[in-house]
Amino acid sequence: MRRRYRLDWALLPRGWVRDVTVTVSPSGTIEALTTDASAHRAGGDVERVAGFVVPGMPNAHSHAFQRALAGRAEARAAARDSFWTWRHAMYAIANEVDAADLRAIATLLFVEMLEAGYTSVAEFHYLHRGRGGGWDLGSDGTPATWDAIRAAARDTGIGLTLLPTLYQAADFGAVPLRPDQQRFRSTTTEFLDAIGRRLAADRATEAPGMRTGIAFHSLRAVSIETIREVAAHLRALEPALPVHIHVAEQRREVRACERATGARPIDWLLRAGVVDEHWCLVHCTHATRAELVAVADAGATICVSISTEANLGDGFFDTLTFRAAQGGLAIGSDSQSTVDPTEELRWLEYQQRLRRRRRNVLATAEEPHVGTGLWRTAALAGARALGQPVGEIAAGRRADWIALDPSHPALAGAAPEAALDHLLFAGGRHAIREVYVAGRRVLTEHRHPLRAAAAAGYREALRRIDRR
Ligand SMILES: [Zn+2]
Repeated sequence: MRRRYRLDWALLPRGWVRDVTVTVSPSGTIEALTTDASAHRAGGDVERVAGFVVPGMPNAHSHAFQRALAGRAEARAAARDSFWTWRHAMYAIANEVDAADLRAIATLLFVEMLEAGYTSVAEFHYLHRGRGGGWDLGSDGTPATWDAIRAAARDTGIGLTLLPTLYQAADFGAVPLRPDQQRFRSTTTEFLDAIGRRLAADRATEAPGMRTGIAFHSLRAVSIETIREVAAHLRALEPALPVHIHVAEQRREVRACERATGARPIDWLLRAGVVDEHWCLVHCTHATRAELVAVADAGATICVSISTEANLGDGFFDTLTFRAAQGGLAIGSDSQSTVDPTEELRWLEYQQRLRRRRRNVLATAEEPHVGTGLWRTAALAGARALGQPVGEIAAGRRADWIALDPSHPALAGAAPEAALDHLLFAGGRHAIREVYVAGRRVLTEHRHPLRAAAAAGYREALRRIDRR
């Protein structure tokens, strides 16, 4: 059924507009927008959306199972804790989570994402095998853990780009996987067969908001020859397939790449000649200026997760260089230490302030409001990274938006133009009152209907994991 909404104030591509009537198709796509007063008087069923309405945020990088580790790796484990010591704890959890646990964890996580303003998510998923090490297939002939993620997205209503991830080696030079990495393993043939079945199932069933892409875990985990082979094979099947990869997160990884190949990792990846506008490079923390300009020139997006990069002590991303090169910068919740787009974007700006001892560093002459500029650009880049028609409130895009309550103390006295500044810099995330995905209201009066059940399911899953 076609539905109509009247938005009190909407952030459209041309700016803030009052009294916008939006027509949404049965599959959730915005067909038309008008500010014509006669449209409001035309009668019929029109659902009013009160407050300040802004595009929902795509979360361009998530590992759902890591939600079970949040808060549990913040005590000293070694004299010099690092990403690499954290990874031991992460693998310990990864090896205890089964498909039912994963569904429960992802269900709570996706509820939390919707409450925070993320309306879609790219799930970078490498937990393929069962706890016994088997290639356990669920429906559609794909691993049962892929089904678990899709079921959690379906149940909660969040948009999903599932990125099954190829993971074949422990380090450069095809070092064999360690025992605690065996669940991530697939042969190229197993991987391509399962992806082929997933894509065929996507084509056979109408599931608005759900799509499939792929990821290569990293240059450590997949050889450049295999990346070329898999990318070429899948490009022929689906030209616009989203492809993600972790790259240049750690200095140790940069040094290992240089030793193995003679090149830095981003440079090495770009030389393969496969990166295009459907690629998303995750982190790029340790990049040269030339590498960042080359990524922007290739049309690829970069996804940062400031909360995770801070939590793991990775380093600073060079935001100003990438922006100056017109690069698209998306955000993600990654290790789920916090699940909050306002925190990602606030700290993107705060990193610049602390380093430069200035304020409003990421504002521009065209968009003086830091909050508005950051939100809009991250939403558009995130849409590209997910390969989904989201990221702005416009005809042809999906009706994913969030409504902020102007009477909430965090927004009191704010004009629409400053609403996103308040959201990012004045604790405004609690002003997110309603969230819509594909025109369907999934959050009402700050709450998701599954909140209590999802929290109970999550606690039960953690108890099962801890007992093993
Ligand atoms: Zn990651």
